[in-house]
Amino acid sequence: MRSYSLIAPAKINLYLEIIGDRPDGYHELAMVLQSISLADKVDIRPIEIDTIFVQCNHAAVPNDQTNLAYRAAALMAQQFPEAMAQYGGVEITIDKQIPVAAGLAGGSTDAAAVLVGLDLLWKLGLTQGELEDLAAQIGSDIPFCIKGGTALATGRGEVLSPLVNLDNLSVVLAKYRSLAISTPWAYKTYRTQFGDTYVRKAEDLQSRRQRVHSGGIVSAIMQRDRAKIGQLLHNDLEKVALPEYPEVLQLREAFASQNVLGTMMSGSGPTVFALTESERQALEVAETVRNQLANPDLDFWTAQLSSTGITLA
Ligand code: ATP
Repeated sequence: MRSYSLIAPAKINLYLEIIGDRPDGYHELAMVLQSISLADKVDIRPIEIDTIFVQCNHAAVPNDQTNLAYRAAALMAQQFPEAMAQYGGVEITIDKQIPVAAGLAGGSTDAAAVLVGLDLLWKLGLTQGELEDLAAQIGSDIPFCIKGGTALATGRGEVLSPLVNLDNLSVVLAKYRSLAISTPWAYKTYRTQFGDTYVRKAEDLQSRRQRVHSGGIVSAIMQRDRAKIGQLLHNDLEKVALPEYPEVLQLREAFASQNVLGTMMSGSGPTVFALTESERQALEVAETVRNQLANPDLDFWTAQLSSTGITLA
């Protein structure tokens, strides 16, 4: 039986707005999610015994049942026990290129790759919708990671409306290697500080969602207006992360001082990205900011915005 190698891209948030509390305990969000060409490679190999093995070349990524890739495989085994009985277990090998705990959905995209890979390996023929429903059971960002591209994500992030492709833009990303921001901390702090602005009634949530749909950045994306997209980047979580982590603010200011289209923290951070007109400009900005901040703890990446989610390598 054959093995599959999958490319699992990272995502950035072009927009992240926290709208309110949901009865299920999650936050109600409006986000614009964007795949980028920075990606992990996930290999899925059938093995004879009925077990799931995960291995990863990055020390901070667990090889046990807490790995999101493992959880994706366990969910598939639970949903399709006949397939596992017929085809055996699976060995998942993650070549980690996406920085870990960085706000770039690295774990989520690996899990998405496992869902897509096992669908192929076990010849299940699942539809996009079926894969997204399975993905939503493991994590809010995972449905987006399957199809990728550019999408408006509402609900807790799992209700997706595709937007047009922006794949001719580039991005430069930077992260302090030793800095991690806990996603639960960021949302909890936001709730403590800004919870009085939350929409809580179901009918109010509905009308608020409509307003987000017609929001400025979505129109700018539909018109592929690069300058406007750059100006309208937004992330509510910056309101809690930047005061707490001045080095992230300093990095953001360093990017903003360059001639970039726009700059923003991604997700709950601490990665900061800047949109640029070309890959060459992204490389130049990385070089300039690296020299300007001269901090050996700071890592840089450049990438293209991408129109694809999980693909075969
Ligand atoms: P998000 O943007 O979805 O909040 P993130 O990019 O901030 O995610 P991840 O890279 O997914 O964060 O990692 C968060 C934590 O999840 C890590 O500290 C790690 O212990 C754990 N983890 C579990 N599975 C994986 C995986 N496959 N890749 C990376 N981290 C994983």
